[in-house]
Amino acid sequence: MLDDTHQFLDEAARRLGLSSEELAKLKQADAEHAFGIELSNGQTYKAYRVQHNNRRGPYKGGIRFHPEVNLDEVRTLATLMSLKTAAAGLPLGGGKGGIAVDPRKLSKEQLEELSRKYAAALEPHIGPDKDVPAPDVNTDATIIDWMLDEYEKITGDTSHASFTGKSLAKGGSHGRDAATGRGGVLALEELLKLEGGGHKDLTVAIQGFGNVGSFFGTVMAERHSGWRLAAASDSEAAVYNPDGLDAKALQQYKAGRGRFKDYSDSGAKVVGNDELLALDVDVLVLAGFENTVNQSNAGSVRAHYVIEMANGPVTKQAYDYLTDHGHVVLPDIIANAGGVIVSYLEWVQNRSHESWPEADVNAKLAGYMQKAVRETYDYAKKEQASLKSAAFSVALQKLS
Ligand code: NAD
Repeated sequence: MLDDTHQFLDEAARRLGLSSEELAKLKQADAEHAFGIELSNGQTYKAYRVQHNNRRGPYKGGIRFHPEVNLDEVRTLATLMSLKTAAAGLPLGGGKGGIAVDPRKLSKEQLEELSRKYAAALEPHIGPDKDVPAPDVNTDATIIDWMLDEYEKITGDTSHASFTGKSLAKGGSHGRDAATGRGGVLALEELLKLEGGGHKDLTVAIQGFGNVGSFFGTVMAERHSGWRLAAASDSEAAVYNPDGLDAKALQQYKAGRGRFKDYSDSGAKVVGNDELLALDVDVLVLAGFENTVNQSNAGSVRAHYVIEMANGPVTKQAYDYLTDHGHVVLPDIIANAGGVIVSYLEWVQNRSHESWPEADVNAKLAGYMQKAVRETYDYAKKEQASLKSAAFSVALQKLS
């Protein structure tokens, strides 16, 4: 994935005429922290925080708990965060963190110990004006609340602005849970508007019905009665109903730890994950993991619009293949920027000791999303570039 991100960066840098020295500087992270965490039961875990670029403001980016977390992945995700905050026009930089752990194998007490030790180890390097972490895959408000508490115990800071994605009780923002999914829907709306189409009726398949994917589904259902959710998947299987699925019911099913392979509802059938990617729908939302659409399966994608809600779900080769074949792929650094935008709004609220109603947060989110999509779209048209190349170029211009 790092290679793919660098290839997209190389392409944008060539377009902008950046020198190889300037490009090398942009690829290089400012700082990398890699360390071990030992729990009281003797188990040890590898942990990371990469601080990529803070030219525009404090480093910003999530913390991922996953067995496959490694330094290369964290580096790539940190680089994408610098590009994302720039593309979204936020006064923030980019960073990312993670622990190589399967959190499902830990008790609640072990998970708390691990989270607190991670925050304590990073304390000298993070803070409201330095680096403001947030949740990512397998981390949530409970984990962030533990980290915040640990950080505040050590430093005496009471601003609550050292982490975002907190619970509301600890200074979190209204609208943060749904922000990434909502942002994706807003981005797609803006793209359709710019293309001049009405698109009252659309069929949508969502790969990866977790936090991001499920809120994409529920927000889409709230805002567009004619957009039909035809399919949704988790890591094991997909549910499919060409007449439409109830996104809210599926979200509740997943919240109750339901598995799509066991899903039964009249009219819905269980299909394989590969089948979902190849469905004849208008929009394919990729909200699972990186490298989902690659050289081996890009040819099977039939959706005209592909929305990269995960980070790097379409490889460089697959991206080029899809755009060459007339598909429109809305790039990750724009499509999934809603999470970091509302994280920024949370940080602003903490710093000004305010708590805004959800409607205000959502309105501000819409403003940032629409502007980011328009800038990318206009650049792509003017330079005859793909949306990915345009988004990276717009971001690089703001970073150089
Ligand atoms: P999540 O763990 O809540 O959801 C991921 C979902 O993908 C789960 O339902 C899982 O079952 C499913 N999945 C995993 N492997 C799959 C596979 N092979 N096929 C189909 N489904 C699969 O995570 P999330 O927070 O929703 O994040 C999803 C992606 O979005 C990640 O790439 C993350 O980095 C990115 N992202 C998240 C946020 C955020 O605010 N949470 C913001 C920006 C980007």
